[in-house]
Amino acid sequence: MKNYGLDIWANENFVIDEGELVLNYKSKPSLLDIVEGIRSDNVRGPIILRFPHLIKKQIETLYYHFDKAIKHNQYQGGFHAVFPLKVNQFPSVVEAVTSEGAIHNYGLEAGSKAELILAMSETPQGAHITVNGFKDKEMITLGFMAAQSGHNITITIEGLGELETIIEVAQECNLKIPNVGIRVRLHSAGSGIWAKSGGMDAKFGLTSTEIIEAVALLKEANMIENLTMIHFHIGSQMSDIAPLKRALREAGNIYAELKKMGTPSLNSVNIGGGLAVEYDQHVQARSRNYSIDEFSSTVVFLLGEIMNAKKVAHPDIFTESGRFIVASHSVLITPVLELFTQDYQERLLNFKPVNPPILEELRYLAKMLNEQNCTEYLHDALDHMESLLTLFDLGYIDLQDRSNAEILVHNIIKKALYLKVDNPTNELEELQSNLQERYLINASIFQSLPDYWGLKQHFPVMPLHHLEEKPLRAASLWDITCDSDGEIGFDSEKPLFLHDVDLDNEDYFLGFFNIGAYQETLGMEHNLFTHPNEYTVEITDDSYKIIHQVESKNILNILESIGYNSDKILNKLKSELLKSEFITEKEKSDTLLKLETFIKQNGYLRTTN
Ligand SMILES: *Cc1c(COP(=O)(O)O)cnc(C)c1O
Repeated sequence: MKNYGLDIWANENFVIDEGELVLNYKSKPSLLDIVEGIRSDNVRGPIILRFPHLIKKQIETLYYHFDKAIKHNQYQGGFHAVFPLKVNQFPSVVEAVTSEGAIHNYGLEAGSKAELILAMSETPQGAHITVNGFKDKEMITLGFMAAQSGHNITITIEGLGELETIIEVAQECNLKIPNVGIRVRLHSAGSGIWAKSGGMDAKFGLTSTEIIEAVALLKEANMIENLTMIHFHIGSQMSDIAPLKRALREAGNIYAELKKMGTPSLNSVNIGGGLAVEYDQHVQARSRNYSIDEFSSTVVFLLGEIMNAKKVAHPDIFTESGRFIVASHSVLITPVLELFTQDYQERLLNFKPVNPPILEELRYLAKMLNEQNCTEYLHDALDHMESLLTLFDLGYIDLQDRSNAEILVHNIIKKALYLKVDNPTNELEELQSNLQERYLINASIFQSLPDYWGLKQHFPVMPLHHLEEKPLRAASLWDITCDSDGEIGFDSEKPLFLHDVDLDNEDYFLGFFNIGAYQETLGMEHNLFTHPNEYTVEITDDSYKIIHQVESKNILNILESIGYNSDKILNKLKSELLKSEFITEKEKSDTLLKLETFIKQNGYLRTTN
């Protein structure tokens, strides 16, 4: 792997230029430059970079392909999209979706009361709001308020009880009645690790019997004019297109049947989300078997075909794609704090005037190693190391001898890897993946990559620089939580190789990509590590600008957010220091200043310069 699978997952958003990863847009700034610019302001720890132009790109891609399919199939309905807030509710993201999507009247989808309030405040008038998920009377009343305030809102019912409540609210007040959608329970289920939203045993939706009853209830209440939409969602990160086709046939026929039952305003089919994102870095492990082109033409073609067969006008098509719209826009950047084998540095060798003969032998091998003798000398070195460890256990050599031997052997292996970089032997490759380097990253996997922790979802990872050199160290990544699950182990099926960087002399940064969907909102404050500092970056023709930034919660804020009184904590720490003995008043006041500085920073490590 030379380019970390950029051609597989990056969608041409990032390219390598002179050994650095750069944005493939306008002035093509290097990610390293952006990061160094931010860090020059004394920012440490992990950072999230957001690129709104990538949200714009996804919105345009989505509309381009649906518009194309609509033209190609002479489809009579329109296309609309809403963004499901649960995927990423952070202000910069919602702002980017609504402003970049403004020309398409891009709307928002809400799945809870808080999200509905957010949708009511952030959706431009004229754009659609859809509401899914379980609702109580209050939430339904909020929907009426949104309609009354001029929003184009559709409340999708998940069960008959919700419809009864809608009718009840309509009869109790004079507020404008929102549009009503029906979520259908499909017998065809989804695919992929998130596919729990479809199928007979699904958590959501009405059965065919309930749908018929819903229509009767609406007619009885004189509200059939409010029924506008049917909805389904077969689960996120749909890996295969076949289940979508089955769902479309089923939902399309339900729509046509409903039209025949006399539903004058019914005019839309909402296909939910599920459009997948490529997260894999290795060709053999692609995460989806279709393209956006195939996805959009399948939807448009199948719905058109069903409606034509049943002689029903083509419905408008709604999508609620979340992952596809925002996953690519954000990148998590983490400094590497430590390479564990960096303790094996040559400068730490400390030979005695007289060393055990076997150690002298190792010294000789290390010195004379070259491309021709490399394999043979490597074998000898490994063999000697075994003997040295035995000698140590038996008490024949001391700790200094053992330390010298370990440094020498590690250096012999590393040198051999470099000497054989272009034609490594099988054995060397095996040795390489067995002798993993552990890279300690200044981040929390629980906070920033929760789907890795919970579902083993892989996210593309690569260094931002050194990309002109072949990476030789088989890498496992350890985060700074003190939890052994905070590790991304080396996987020989999907190996990650990183560079051997001397961190005393320079920083080494890793980027985790496609983290814009779900990760930020699912992230948890395990060990009290918080959402990292985030920066929204606009790329201009000749440079870039940071247009928005949000600082990570500091240590006092986070303690306060779980119910502690931060004044009390600070006062207690201060008074205990002040009461302490054996330091001068000056030392006390200096120490207090330091304490205040530390406690008002975020909790990530500040080791790297
Ligand atoms: C979660 C969800 C979505 C978004 O799904 P993605 O896979 O992120 O596109 C859309 N609609 C509904 C009803 C959802 O629950």
